[in-house]
Amino acid sequence: METDPAPGFDTLDPRTGEVLAHLPEHGPEDVAAAVARARDAFGPWSALAFDQRMDHVLTVRDLLIDRLDRVVDVICSETGKLEPEALSAEVLATCELIQHYRKHGARALRSEKVPVGSLLPHKRAWRSYEPMGVVGVISPWNYPLTLAMTPVVSALLAGNTVVLKPSEVTPLVGLEIGRLFAEAGAHPGIVQVVTGGGRTGDALVRAGVQKVAFTGSVRTGKLVMAAAAETLTPVLLELGGKDPMIVCDDADIDRAASGAVWGAYMNAGQTCMSVERVYVEDAVYDRFVDLVVERTRAVRQGRGPGHDIGSMSFGPQVDIVERHVADAEAKGAKVLTGGRRVPGRAGLWYEPTVLVDVDHTMDVMRDETFGPVLPIMRVRDDEEAVRLANDSLYGLNSSVWSADDERAEEIARAIEAGNVCINDCMVSYAVAGLPFGGVKQSGIGRIHGVEGLRAFCNTKSVLASRFDLGRELQWFPLPGWVTAALRRIVRLRYRRGLRAKLRP
Ligand code: NAD
Repeated sequence: METDPAPGFDTLDPRTGEVLAHLPEHGPEDVAAAVARARDAFGPWSALAFDQRMDHVLTVRDLLIDRLDRVVDVICSETGKLEPEALSAEVLATCELIQHYRKHGARALRSEKVPVGSLLPHKRAWRSYEPMGVVGVISPWNYPLTLAMTPVVSALLAGNTVVLKPSEVTPLVGLEIGRLFAEAGAHPGIVQVVTGGGRTGDALVRAGVQKVAFTGSVRTGKLVMAAAAETLTPVLLELGGKDPMIVCDDADIDRAASGAVWGAYMNAGQTCMSVERVYVEDAVYDRFVDLVVERTRAVRQGRGPGHDIGSMSFGPQVDIVERHVADAEAKGAKVLTGGRRVPGRAGLWYEPTVLVDVDHTMDVMRDETFGPVLPIMRVRDDEEAVRLANDSLYGLNSSVWSADDERAEEIARAIEAGNVCINDCMVSYAVAGLPFGGVKQSGIGRIHGVEGLRAFCNTKSVLASRFDLGRELQWFPLPGWVTAALRRIVRLRYRRGLRAKLRP
């Protein structure tokens, strides 16, 4: 008798379309079992001191480095990215975050004294940062190592245990992470990995975890938040972007053009922080466009050494890129180079593409394209550039290019985004001490920095007595003089100026 195959899904090599593995689609029961194991592990893990947790994370990092070739190979074969991209934005970014918390993490989680003010001078107060419990991490496919490891490591260091659901496009990287933690030994169960798509992710959100850390699209982020709202489970949402680049008329155009080309095409444009649209002031527009086109044509796309970018990672994303470019052309945009899949090549290869004569009626200027496409728009001045940059539902990353620091900083203040780079793009992410996250529909909460650890803590406020008064003044029975005394306190404490304070 034939039995139905277990429900599952294939993971593919996007460079060739070859099937890499068939994996189980974990359902609600599997997810609940993983969460239960993580809950069992929570007690002993949360009881450890920060340095003991860090020791364990460092063992995992050592293992990662020992297995670098294998890990990089899995990342490249599931995403189509090149080794330098996997080594820099995935491995280095992960190792550097751990390094940052090794140095600064304990301080971020230490209890802090809070001034009690003059109403309760006999008290002392502090806030402490307590682990929450089990954290559900749901990660995307574009940086499958670092975007899973960042919330996983942060949640662990803050004392939580984790269930990770990697993207169904890159589950092997997720399983590799699970293996690293399992083989690091000593603290079993602190990281569980479940595989599957949206159904598995939804089950994790609803599994009674104490926090969900989600990285992915705005559309899915809204579903996650709606599901989490049913149990008021807190969410950290790292969502999409439509990141603007503003090039002022006094900018170093040579540098700005190279920055734009790197910022738009690195990782085949599949970076939430990538340059998604450019506003260039009139006086320097033509030169900027010429340089960008020249350098775009020089970008080497392919497999292995000697190339700058690899393939795209996910078939439906290539469809979105094609749709955006077609929509722009239909509305009057011009393709100066690229604008199509690489002819005659199997797999997910799309040519680096420069678009001009674009405007905000086009999807390519309003929705996340998430591919190697660089639309450039001519603007009159700083004011118009900022207005257009802010004409967006998104607010993740951005960049300003100008020779005048004051001018650049003024624009940086005016841009509605969680992150701004001046005369560079994207690299702020490499500074692990800088909080990273979005405003508007690009997300809620921050990873990295102090915020990135405290995101996985409940802040507890504690009040204790410095000395014992025996009876507190506000306790029953209220003394007869209390009303007059309270009036006096209000006047004396909050009126401004000595004369006013003494006025009845
Ligand atoms: P996606 O939203 O399609 O999927 C993300 C994850 O959510 C996957 O693991 C997926 O299986 C899971 N999922 C799908 N439906 C779900 C549901 N109903 N409930 C719970 N989980 C569900 O995103 P993607 O295509 O994997 O990633 C690309 C997107 O991620 C882009 O929009 C990009 O900008 C964004 N992103 C944001 C950041 C950031 O830090 N802000 C970083 C990287 C990527």
